[in-house]
Amino acid sequence: MAQDINLLILPGDGIGTEVMAQVRRVTDWIGTNQGITFNIEEDLVGGCSIDAHGTSLTDECMAKAMAADAVLLGAVGGPKWDKVDFDIRPEAGLLRLRKDMGLFANLRPAICFDALVDASSLKPDLISGLDIMIVRELTGGVYFGEPRGITDLPDGQRRGVNTQVYDTEEIRRVVRVAFDLALQRDGRVTSCDKANVMESGILWREEATWVHENEAQYADIELSHMYADNAAMQLVRQPKQFDVIVTDNLFGDILSDTAAMLTGSLGMLPSASLGAPDESGVAKAMYEPVHGSAPDIAGQNLANPIASILSFAMALRYSFNLGAEADLIEKSVENVLAEGYRTGDIMQPGMNQTTTTGMGDAIIVALDKLAG
Ligand code: NAD
Repeated sequence: MAQDINLLILPGDGIGTEVMAQVRRVTDWIGTNQGITFNIEEDLVGGCSIDAHGTSLTDECMAKAMAADAVLLGAVGGPKWDKVDFDIRPEAGLLRLRKDMGLFANLRPAICFDALVDASSLKPDLISGLDIMIVRELTGGVYFGEPRGITDLPDGQRRGVNTQVYDTEEIRRVVRVAFDLALQRDGRVTSCDKANVMESGILWREEATWVHENEAQYADIELSHMYADNAAMQLVRQPKQFDVIVTDNLFGDILSDTAAMLTGSLGMLPSASLGAPDESGVAKAMYEPVHGSAPDIAGQNLANPIASILSFAMALRYSFNLGAEADLIEKSVENVLAEGYRTGDIMQPGMNQTTTTGMGDAIIVALDKLAG
């Protein structure tokens, strides 16, 4: 069935523009070959927007993001803007997008492609076939809690304060995202907290359990709880024991980076950030690679575009229910890696080193073959 999809693409700075150019080739391919119309708009975010408009995100661009079916973002930032005012720094645009779109659930898959099994610092048998999903709460917790700040004490010392705070619905809604994902996967969710030492952790555990016990659609989910420090250990000891992990903003920050490194390079890691579904069940969503703008290699056709291309595959799967098309993209990436194509960041002896555009070429050829 023909489908019309409105995408806003924000390539951003540095390698963001290079990798998103390869994503455009994949959106074109899917559009042409799978009967989907992508209505694509591009705009500026980050340093390039500061240069053009004096702000890292204009109101017009924000409005386009709110109206789009999904946003695909490259990366923002770079040394050129290191000294701009804190309020207009490139990251401020990104933070506004996340905040105004209400993107409270951050999805970070950690998947190990067979061809890259030797790139991990863990033994191959521990990560071969690895496929876990970490769901991190993104808009609450200690990064946003009040009171916060640094104060002077009467005795001449200083005190730094941040507040870990969660309310019932903030926990329940992100747990539901994890449960929904698990229903499409192996059906197992591990909720991570520090209920042994933190009241906010006790609440987290109770609310996760509440959703499990009271919402009938999740009856088949196998929910377990784990202390977040143990989860960090288990991720490097026996990562394949996990299916979906759900956790708060702080623990999720750490656990998702730990899981990411199980699988090799930053250039391979996609992510999704989702908001609450509206009345018609559609959620605001932004998809972006985990990596930054990589100023050290920007403009040299060296960047690995796979993280961004896999982020587009996540958009197809999670925003548009196009799982078969997402599978096609993921399979084509798997195939080009198996054929030996590598950008510099994942280069291994005996492999065929290629460029950003070369990797894009190989993925398009692989898509053609799969469709073939
Ligand atoms: P980075 O992710 O940009 O780069 C870290 C290292 O990984 C670099 O050596 C880089 O060359 C390499 N790398 C990253 N992505 C790669 C890819 N696709 N292919 C090949 N190699 C890749 O992190 P950084 O150096 O700490 O930050 C650089 C800039 O990016 C800073 O301005 C930072 O604020 C910004 N940043 C933005 C985001 C974002 O937009 N979401 C995230 C992180 C950092």
